Amino acid sequence: IQDVLQQLGLKAINDGTSTGSNNFSPDSYRDGELIESYSPVDGQLIGKVKSTTREDYEKVMDAATKAFLSWRDVPAPQRGEIVRQFGNKLRDLKRPLGKLVSYEMGKSLQEGYGEVQEMIDICDFAVGLSRQLNGQTIPSERPGHVMREQWHPIGVVGIISAFNFPVAVWAWNTALAWICGDVCVWKASEKAPLCSVACQNIIAAILKENNCPEGISCIVNGDYKVGEMITTDSRIPLVSATGSTRMGRIVGATVAKRFGKSLLELGGNNAIIITPSADLKVVVPGAVFGAVGTCGQRCTSTRRLIIHESVYDKVRDAIVGAYGQLTIGNPLDEKNHIGPLIDHDAVNTYLAAIEKAKAEGGNVLVEGGVLEGEGYESGCYVKPAIIEAENNFEIVQHETFAPILYLMKYSGEVENAIAKQNGVAQGLSSAIMTNEMKEAEKFLSYAGSDCGIANVNIGTSGAEIGGAFGGEKETGGGRESGSDAWKVYMRRQTNTINYSDQLPLAQGIKFDL
Ligand code: NAD
Repeated sequence: IQDVLQQLGLKAINDGTSTGSNNFSPDSYRDGELIESYSPVDGQLIGKVKSTTREDYEKVMDAATKAFLSWRDVPAPQRGEIVRQFGNKLRDLKRPLGKLVSYEMGKSLQEGYGEVQEMIDICDFAVGLSRQLNGQTIPSERPGHVMREQWHPIGVVGIISAFNFPVAVWAWNTALAWICGDVCVWKASEKAPLCSVACQNIIAAILKENNCPEGISCIVNGDYKVGEMITTDSRIPLVSATGSTRMGRIVGATVAKRFGKSLLELGGNNAIIITPSADLKVVVPGAVFGAVGTCGQRCTSTRRLIIHESVYDKVRDAIVGAYGQLTIGNPLDEKNHIGPLIDHDAVNTYLAAIEKAKAEGGNVLVEGGVLEGEGYESGCYVKPAIIEAENNFEIVQHETFAPILYLMKYSGEVENAIAKQNGVAQGLSSAIMTNEMKEAEKFLSYAGSDCGIANVNIGTSGAEIGGAFGGEKETGGGRESGSDAWKVYMRRQTNTINYSDQLPLAQGIKFDL
């Protein structure tokens, strides 16, 4: 891993103040505590990052607010050019950055590379978009008048991200925010701080080469206390926060109190409905990857299978059989399907959830448990579990960020399955496996899935950057990435222009002088 750290410009300690120049070195200690980053892969200490102090934070904000004033002057397609260069640099560094993601966070190497690919994809998308930040003209009811709508940069965007996508979530936000003319201050998860420093190094070099102010991209390091500096800061009009519903509840309220905007991307409790006509060749890989990929630590991970009673035994046996073939181990070894959980707290939460499911009457089909022995020294490797459960179990109603899959039956029509699928507080991702057109269309209709993402004959897990990503209810309602998600990073302005010699008022109001 040392060569990877070197290629990404990572030294042993980051001073926590980088606004772009990243002048971090062991000599530049400040008062902030050190955040130690241990790999869940082998339990080794990878590096330390200095937590950002209030004083450091003010320096960062100073750089960011100043940078905004010049960045918004740069024409959008030229801002796109910077993002294009960033995407190209990511192409060059896909392997080391993907490997760092895998080592620091614990996802498989393929998924680490995939995460960097998502960054590249959103850069490409943003470059094209930089020539399409289009407003519209609107017919005016008054003669000699025209109305139009414009989109202007919003300012400093605060980004708070979760550990499980330690680089892509930042890029989804920044690539769009930058072309929109905004500057970004990012607080990454304290569980994967080196990934954020690596990303910052990459963009900082590009900004420098292009003589752009370093404050266009800033990072601050630390836990929720540093996050609170962002959420309470009225210089930050938009806070994009990805993480648990518990976090979003606090962040949303804090930002709303100062009339800021928040874009919330929170937890999911995603289900696949498996109908009688479902094709097992599609169901099994879709459900199994969805449940165990990233060791069940994706917001879109499949948590529930809602299976028609007529095919229940067949589907259950096929899924249980597939679990028997899964290999668990070092995620950098591409033979393994499943890597570790992020840390020991996550392992304890996983174990507690299994106990709770049993206590509520769940029937364990595939036993979970923590793996021990050679290769599992970090203590973070667990066995994916399958439990037959009811949708109304308290534990099933909650997102447990671990590979636990709940199986349940439905009978009768697809509406009964949809009711179960929607019968949770979260609304992120959902899927139906069916070859019946009517069932598929019902599931996608207004009376169907209540989630932000609804798929047919693919699983719940993962998404392409072209679509808007996010979910309803306790998932927070935010949308990132594709479609018109860019609009949240801009402020909307309505203009009415009078090119006549009169001043008619709207709604026919007369005001004679
Ligand atoms: P978390 O909520 O523990 O932390 C997320 C981030 O929020 C961290 O950077 C943390 O420091 C910060 N934070 C926590 N409390 C805060 C506060 N009061 N004020 C400001 N910042 C605060 O989440 P996690 O364990 O890192 O990630 C897992 C969760 O993230 C899961 O629930 C998962 O579903 C969710 N997630 C959602 C999406 C999505 O797009 N919907 C994507 C990835 C992860």
